[in-house]
Amino acid sequence: MPSKAPQDLAPRYNELRGIIKECARDPAAPPEILAVSKGQSADRIRALYSLGQRRFGENYAQELLAKAAQLSDLPIEWVYIGHLQSNKIRKLAAVTDEIQTLARWSDATALARAVSALNRAPFKVFLEVKVDPTDSKAGLDMSEAFELSERIKAELPELRVRGLMAIPSSEYQDAAMQEVPPLYRELRALADRIGEGQLSLGMSGDLRLAAAAGSTVVRLGQALLGPRSAPPSA
Ligand SMILES: *Cc1c(COP(=O)(O)O)cnc(C)c1O
Repeated sequence: MPSKAPQDLAPRYNELRGIIKECARDPAAPPEILAVSKGQSADRIRALYSLGQRRFGENYAQELLAKAAQLSDLPIEWVYIGHLQSNKIRKLAAVTDEIQTLARWSDATALARAVSALNRAPFKVFLEVKVDPTDSKAGLDMSEAFELSERIKAELPELRVRGLMAIPSSEYQDAAMQEVPPLYRELRALADRIGEGQLSLGMSGDLRLAAAAGSTVVRLGQALLGPRSAPPSA
């Protein structure tokens, strides 16, 4: 049954696309929107799909797998953007189109094995660098990203490294900064050396800064889909 988009969604989607285009470092090639659907209902995802969105990002493996099952009638591309746990890699490899949070060689080899067994190679990945010192979760040091990307390129043809992903701290806000901060310039420069040179940077609060810095993928949750329900407790 085709679902109709709730009335708030289409204007918001258009407005965000306009902002991104206006702010983009290269207006002829604005960043892609990855819709972050954690904490959003399957109906809400269906509604955004009906407006043309195809790629959706999720942070929690269980939630992603449940939604992928619920929405299996739609050719949605699921992207994993949550903390990568080794014991979830095989399941994620079976269902997602891309994993943006690869940060360890051991996970890279496990993923390569999984996608090879599933006949899903080459599989798209981003390498996540840790840029927020207050974040306890995993992520590569910026100084380690190039080496890991080169090693994957040399030894794991099952993986296709698209570029770099980062989650800056919440002090980076469009409303608080007039200019692209040095960190964002550094990330752009580093991404130029990683895989295909893509950069997944920018969320609801910093999408203008990220677009201006040359991000190629902005991950938009609440600005696009509205308030979400609380995350499942870990
Ligand atoms: C939740 C989340 C987003 C989206 O956040 P919003 O502020 O709602 O846009 C983007 N990226 C990651 C990694 C996230 O966890």
